[in-house]
Amino acid sequence: MSETAATTANPLLVPWQTPHQTPPFSEIAPEHFLPAFEQAFADHTAEVTAITHDPSVPDFDNTVTALERSGKLLNKVSAVFYDLVSAHSNPAILEIDKEVSLRMARHWNPIMMNAVLFGRIAMLHENRANLRLTAEQMRLLERTYTRFHRSGAGLSEEAKKRMAEINERLAELGTSFSHHLLGDEQDWFLELGEDDRAGLSDSFVAAAKAAAEERGMAGKAIITLSRSFAEPFLKSSARRDLREKVYKAFVARGDNGNANDNNEAIVEILALREESANLLGYPTYAAYRLEDSMAKTPEAVRGLLERVWKPARARALADRDELQAMIAADGGNFALAPWDWRYYAEKLRQAKANFDDAAIKPYLSLDHMIEAAFDCATRLFGITFAERKDIPVWHPDVRVWEIRDREGKHKALFYGDYFARSSKRSGAWMTSLRDQQKLDGETAPLIINVCNFAKGAGGEPALLSPDDARTLFHEFGHGLHGMLSNVTYPSLSGTSVFTDFVELPSQLYEHWQERPEVLQKFARHYQTGEPLPEDLLQRFLAARKFNQGFATVEFVSSALVDLEFHTQPAAASRDVRAFEQAELAKIGMPAEIAMRHRPTQFGHIFTGDHYAAGYYSYMWSEVMDADAFGAFEEAGNIFDPATAKRLHDDIYSTGGSVDPEAAYVAFRGREPEPDALLRRRGLLETPKVA
Ligand SMILES: [Zn+2]
Repeated sequence: MSETAATTANPLLVPWQTPHQTPPFSEIAPEHFLPAFEQAFADHTAEVTAITHDPSVPDFDNTVTALERSGKLLNKVSAVFYDLVSAHSNPAILEIDKEVSLRMARHWNPIMMNAVLFGRIAMLHENRANLRLTAEQMRLLERTYTRFHRSGAGLSEEAKKRMAEINERLAELGTSFSHHLLGDEQDWFLELGEDDRAGLSDSFVAAAKAAAEERGMAGKAIITLSRSFAEPFLKSSARRDLREKVYKAFVARGDNGNANDNNEAIVEILALREESANLLGYPTYAAYRLEDSMAKTPEAVRGLLERVWKPARARALADRDELQAMIAADGGNFALAPWDWRYYAEKLRQAKANFDDAAIKPYLSLDHMIEAAFDCATRLFGITFAERKDIPVWHPDVRVWEIRDREGKHKALFYGDYFARSSKRSGAWMTSLRDQQKLDGETAPLIINVCNFAKGAGGEPALLSPDDARTLFHEFGHGLHGMLSNVTYPSLSGTSVFTDFVELPSQLYEHWQERPEVLQKFARHYQTGEPLPEDLLQRFLAARKFNQGFATVEFVSSALVDLEFHTQPAAASRDVRAFEQAELAKIGMPAEIAMRHRPTQFGHIFTGDHYAAGYYSYMWSEVMDADAFGAFEEAGNIFDPATAKRLHDDIYSTGGSVDPEAAYVAFRGREPEPDALLRRRGLLETPKVA
């Protein structure tokens, strides 16, 4: 085959003739990726070489803007590839992923450590006050300089060589970490016979049947290790033996001593991160990582986490005693174990708030909650949604909507991929197939939300738990950050912000989901269409603050262990399990609660460096989101137009073009007030317990 023929045959290398130039998924096969990546790497390298060989004096346009224009094909191919890797993989894709992650590191290293390129950027940065740049250009120059500097572009040749090796190895390790986790999740399931369903709701059993069907076991019912299965099971199954089985499998993911074990990878990742931080002149990886964040230092992160930890732990211990008393009152003669907590907490909640998740689920159908999320965005930001059936997707369950602005102008496409399946990794996330920018004309974004909700079986609609509904709004909040983005330069687009700021738009959006105004309108019974009865709504809202000690403890312990992994010498965590236990003992972790993510399944911090020493970010952002929603409450209207306009102009549309602290103050008129977080979680009044 001639080279031209090969090129025209590869759908990743030709302009897409689809509506809005979306990826033609049905034409793309695994074998197209490696040649497309090779072409994309070559193009990108040539573009960067043109910048470094440019004989004219460096200026903003021929250096920084030229860099922003480079790598278009690489972005295009990568976006499609990583969407499939995470949302719909197969053995061929995962095999290619191993090769691509290494090739990617090998491609980026010489660019990010290119002395000539860095010299041009540094010269502009030095002279930035005289360049007559717009505010966005100034921010872009600063971010570009910082990115190169922090990648080691200013190091000696010898140090750069070592950095390159480290980056390559870290890329391999991160990829195998996520493959292992997926492997352990794919391998495990528990079949639920008729006798094994005590306590489970009809909708749960229906979902378990759908899961069996998806794995080729039609007629049976199984539960998998997806969080959407494991947590509701632990909450409702009356079979203590099965709860123990599921709990143990869930917390053991990546820690089973089999081919998917992640312990060794963690040890090596931490050692390499420490070495790279040292090469760059930082005492620890956390110090390196946090310098480029809102928090700035490990001490600031620890300060926030410890402040929350104390009241959360006290609340959890008080709750534990109450749960133990409940077991005794039930005639149980055993000590509360980790696999009992959710079950008895749910019973206690039913007793106290007269509310259980199963009662509200019929009112939270997936379709109604999608409608609710869209409607809030329409009322806040004036955008409208219309489903499109003509956009190619990667799996038949994926739905696509077109978003238009107030004037009816096309703004974005939104892809929703909501159901759990074995080809999808666990969790929920937002990503994009194309980012908003207007460097060379308007580019409209293609934004994706992926979730792992249990599908309804036998044609029944999918029903969400309150946690699922909140996740839907969370990811949609990220989605809005991408869709409402209004910046010129691609690297500042949408969610390209500090990790401890990125959860603000998502967590803030969750607030609307639990408002009576929204639930009254959209929480309708999936069979009868009846609105959520007022007393159930009130009990639901009252129950929201329930078990917050547990939720806060499982989160903060994970964040603290993440921080310790990256602050202490890597040698201290050579035995990962021992390190985990020692750190948890140090903070007085209640024995009946596990970390939300134990180390071997802590994909946030080990599959890549995005959340490494950064898991605290959710809580950092929560300080802001709890405080930010107060602006609407103070205005007396959760859709107050003036507040919504500021929210759009200062937060959702600015991407990384503005300093996050300045963006927040512009929106709120002041710094966030930190107690809002404790108040929201109901942790301001501390129970009197050790
Ligand atoms: Zn998020």
